[in-house]
Amino acid sequence: MALISAESVERVKQAADIVEVISAHTDLRRQGARWVGLCPFHEERTPSFSVDAQERLYHCFGCGVGGDTIKFVEEKEGLNFAEAVELLADRYGVELEREREDPQAEARRLQRRRLGELLDRTAGFYAGYLWDAPESAKAREYLGERGLGEEVLREFGVGYAPSAWDTVLLRGQRAGFDVGQLRAVGLAQKGRGGGEYDRFRERIMFPIRDRRGRTLGFGGRAMRSDQGAKYVNTAETDFFHKSHMLYGIDRAKEAIAKAGRALVVEGYTDVLALHQAGFRESVGVMGTAITEEQVKALSGMVDTVVLALDADAAGQEAMLRAQRVAAGRKMRLLVAAVPAGEDPAEMMAAEGGAERFRALVEEAMDLAAYQVGLVLDRTDTGSPAERDRAMAEIAPILAGMGEGASRDDIVRRVAERLDFEPALVMGRVTAAQPTSGGPGQAAEAEPAPVPRRGGGELTSRERRERSLLAMCIALPEQGSGYLKRLTEQHLSTLGIRAVAWLRSNLQDPASNLPHDDDELAGLIAELVIVANDEPASVEAMELNFLLLEQRRIENEIAAAGERDDYERRALLSRERAELVERIARTERVGG
Ligand SMILES: [Zn+2]
Repeated sequence: MALISAESVERVKQAADIVEVISAHTDLRRQGARWVGLCPFHEERTPSFSVDAQERLYHCFGCGVGGDTIKFVEEKEGLNFAEAVELLADRYGVELEREREDPQAEARRLQRRRLGELLDRTAGFYAGYLWDAPESAKAREYLGERGLGEEVLREFGVGYAPSAWDTVLLRGQRAGFDVGQLRAVGLAQKGRGGGEYDRFRERIMFPIRDRRGRTLGFGGRAMRSDQGAKYVNTAETDFFHKSHMLYGIDRAKEAIAKAGRALVVEGYTDVLALHQAGFRESVGVMGTAITEEQVKALSGMVDTVVLALDADAAGQEAMLRAQRVAAGRKMRLLVAAVPAGEDPAEMMAAEGGAERFRALVEEAMDLAAYQVGLVLDRTDTGSPAERDRAMAEIAPILAGMGEGASRDDIVRRVAERLDFEPALVMGRVTAAQPTSGGPGQAAEAEPAPVPRRGGGELTSRERRERSLLAMCIALPEQGSGYLKRLTEQHLSTLGIRAVAWLRSNLQDPASNLPHDDDELAGLIAELVIVANDEPASVEAMELNFLLLEQRRIENEIAAAGERDDYERRALLSRERAELVERIARTERVGG
């Protein structure tokens, strides 16, 4: 299968009715030139999701997602670009033409597919071996003792790796795979003597699959206590990044969408036990903390994630990072407080355990509140030094939370317990904010490194930048001039990408969205929708440009000051004064 031709992609885009495609996921109402509705990507009560049927684009002014019909199908169905095109072609009766691709890219794609086959075949072999081989009896017994039935084990493809040194190696080679391929997917490894042998031996095997059920790696649990590590995973390869994977996502994704939440646990058997007990929205993180990548993967599907992890054991740093990513995506991370020394698999096996677990999930509390509680619990409030240490730990947790009533509540509780003034606690939180600028900095700091998607969280520079770029699309003749004048010094990092892209796509930005840069595609969709909807004028463009220019000069003045380059600073200050005059004149003209 070669690449789908660009003409075919174009015909699919023209044939597919974006309003119809999106209407399957949310109700859309016509409002002027646009269609609006509740965003199918984030929880909201008032519609901020917009569809432009002419341009065939969507954009959410609440959470910032956006793109074309193909992008929408990719996101909602968990497909890649080619698969989304195929699905739409099928649905709208478009015949796809394929073109020859660059031989190197083709070789890479074929190799990748071949490696995928190897992994799937091997997963099938392990699964068969668990049920049929006499040497797997003790593994079957172990799984049975943990209360896991055959049905769930088969559903998740749980298997067993033989104790021999080279079963998978030989089988693989007999099926036409070479040692390099076996090594590339982490099934074979080099021994000290230089020979190759099976990485997984005498272990219960849990295939780790992606959203679409393709096996990308394995987790293997030792059967004997003298067998080295209790769990061995596939090593990190081009193919497999453990920190990106969610164990069980292929089996859980529908239940997650339906429940509107995901339950996140640590281990393989936890996931199996929970699915068996009816908690089908459960996935595993294969570690003690949820990673940023895992949060991102879930953020497209749900807005609430309940962590049934040992939140105390998880490094606080890791949890803070996950929390910041979640806050930036308007996602709630909750903690279900599983009692110390117990895990969900054990709870499911015990009498009444499922009910107890359900209650813990229902009572789950905000991750930040939970972590603050942990710090307070282990603080001796009689000691001033201890109280200071606790405050230092708590400040970044609350800073990562974002403003809101629930944070104010926690601030009050902390102030009471540590016997500080609430204002002092708040001051420490503000100081720990990643966005806060020290004295001497420009009043308006550069965009914070915190991930943001919501339109409400833009800095004024980003708002100006977007307003100018939307007008460049609305008035392309003047716009191309401004695109030439804008430099990196005027723009945010995303703005730099947008300008570079618009320079070559200004005539028809809607029909050729980049599909390898989601953030950029989302921004372009937004700009096109705004361009079609909001008034543009040459005066307003000039004003926005001059304001960006003013910001650039001010940044340069600050930089010159830091270098003690007073001559340069004086020169720039004169430039700024002239500029301020021009801005005032332009504002008068623009009315
Ligand atoms: Zn949204």
